[in-house]
Amino acid sequence: MKAQVLIIGGGATGTGISRDLALRGINCILVEKKDINAGASGGNHGLLHSGARYVGADPEAAEECKHEGDIIKKVAPHCIENTGGLFVAVAGDDEKYIADFPQNCSKCGVPAKYVDLKDAFELEPELAKNTIAVYMVEDASVDPFKLSLENLSHAHSNGTIYLPYTKAEGFNIENGRIKSVVVQNMITGEQKKIEADYVVNAAGVWAGELAKLAGMKINMIYSKGSLLVTQRRITKRVINRLRRASDADILVPGGTVSIIGTTSIRTESLESIYPTVEEVDFIISEGAQMLPLLDKIRYIRAYSGVRPLVSLHDSADDRGVTRGFALIDHEKEGIKNFTTITGGKLTTFRLMAEKTSDHVCEKLGISKPCMTKTVPMPNTSSGRWTEPGLAPKTWVRDSSKADILLCECEMIPKSAIDSIISSIIGQSGDLSLNSIGVRSRVGKGPCQGTFCSARIVSYMYDKGNLIDKQGILELQKFINERWKGQRPLLWDIPMVQSELQEAIHCGLFGLEMEQNK
Ligand SMILES: Cc1cc2nc3c(=O)[nH]c(=O)nc-3n(C[C@H](O)[C@H](O)[C@H](O)COP(=O)(O)OP(=O)(O)OC[C@H]3O[C@@H](n4cnc5c(N)ncnc54)[C@H](O)[C@@H]3O)c2cc1C
Repeated sequence: MKAQVLIIGGGATGTGISRDLALRGINCILVEKKDINAGASGGNHGLLHSGARYVGADPEAAEECKHEGDIIKKVAPHCIENTGGLFVAVAGDDEKYIADFPQNCSKCGVPAKYVDLKDAFELEPELAKNTIAVYMVEDASVDPFKLSLENLSHAHSNGTIYLPYTKAEGFNIENGRIKSVVVQNMITGEQKKIEADYVVNAAGVWAGELAKLAGMKINMIYSKGSLLVTQRRITKRVINRLRRASDADILVPGGTVSIIGTTSIRTESLESIYPTVEEVDFIISEGAQMLPLLDKIRYIRAYSGVRPLVSLHDSADDRGVTRGFALIDHEKEGIKNFTTITGGKLTTFRLMAEKTSDHVCEKLGISKPCMTKTVPMPNTSSGRWTEPGLAPKTWVRDSSKADILLCECEMIPKSAIDSIISSIIGQSGDLSLNSIGVRSRVGKGPCQGTFCSARIVSYMYDKGNLIDKQGILELQKFINERWKGQRPLLWDIPMVQSELQEAIHCGLFGLEMEQNK
């Protein structure tokens, strides 16, 4: 296979680059070792930062967020819930930080408006009674899956080839240039070579490992963060603690749920990343200082992601390391057609893609301007089913009796699953239960896949999408993935529910006996 540009990594940055380059008429292949958003882009908070979080410690990041947030709200409004946000301080919080906050915001051009406490309790009744100061900011909630799927879909309709479950494993380097990249299909084990004029490493937290395969060194810091998902949404707006950035100080509404987090724990390895019971306890006790309901509410899932931070100097505190991005041209280390883009934030993915694409174009001698600042991102069917509440609305409005619900928690009918399956097949993707989960709300409700997984697998057998034991193995992969997020939350009703899940999936399907290859 051949392309002008090979992009490695299908997170927000890699899919963003593929869209940017495709809109400039450049022919690209995007390889991803799993499926879309398998890294930090699928394990984050979903906050489109207004910049206010960074005004104290990182004014440059604050300005960048403000600028990019404004662009994303304009060009991709369907990926955003423009909730607005509150910064709230409770009794005992640092009074100097609170006093400096409005001035720091205005220095960075980040709007922040003082809110009278009585009004604040009317806006958000769950705020702690000992709240002492509140400011309103322009934070918003972003659907990271929709964002990457829509980037990819726009790139695909402009000629980009997407190869999921395709891992870059080695580089053939001749005369200081990457001649081809060896990739492995992670399902069949088949290896092949992809030739490209230019190679972009957008592997996020794995960027260092990938660069090492080409003999290059990047000092990456791995900072794990964990998050908890409540069963229902508890505020209308994003709520930030008005203090120096710390743990468990942001609550983001994610459609029908709320997400509280995060932690920041340095880790040496990228294997076996999952939320621990200690993190869960800590997040709840810290978060409840701002919103006491967090101490009582039911949680349906926890998850973790690892921040790709690039170390330019030694710092003991990962919150102190810049959240800015690093664009590293490897020419000075001896490879002329290889660049790494890593670090940064979801909020700044478009800017990262723009800078990378400008750089690639300059290297290839192509003078085409970036269009992602102004060209709207189309709202397509491939990204639409990640939206909470869309499936029930569509089902109630348009359904026939034959269009039965396959997922009851999120009310997803057969017709929505059909549309997701055709979009995966249309983009030559790998059709699996996990790929359906990534593109929808399947498995995200309170039952965490207990019932819907089996129903969807049965339906896929009926349609001829699965044969032999494939369905059982699909169930096992899907349930294992959900289990990572249920395990640290097992008390009260979730404990009872997980017993039921075990009875069905082990007792009936014997999943624990299956060897998944
Ligand atoms: C806990 C947490 C909370 C966060 N919250 C926010 C937030 O609220 N707002 C915000 O703006 N930012 C947030 N971030 C930061 C944001 O998530 C990341 O900066 C962003 O998602 C990085 O995207 P990326 O595409 O560069 O990397 P990734 O999303 O990690 O993508 C890299 C991809 O490369 C693939 N890959 C790796 N190696 C290979 C290979 N050899 N071959 C093929 N594919 C490969 C991986 O599977 C992965 O899918 C948060 C991060 C974390 C961890």
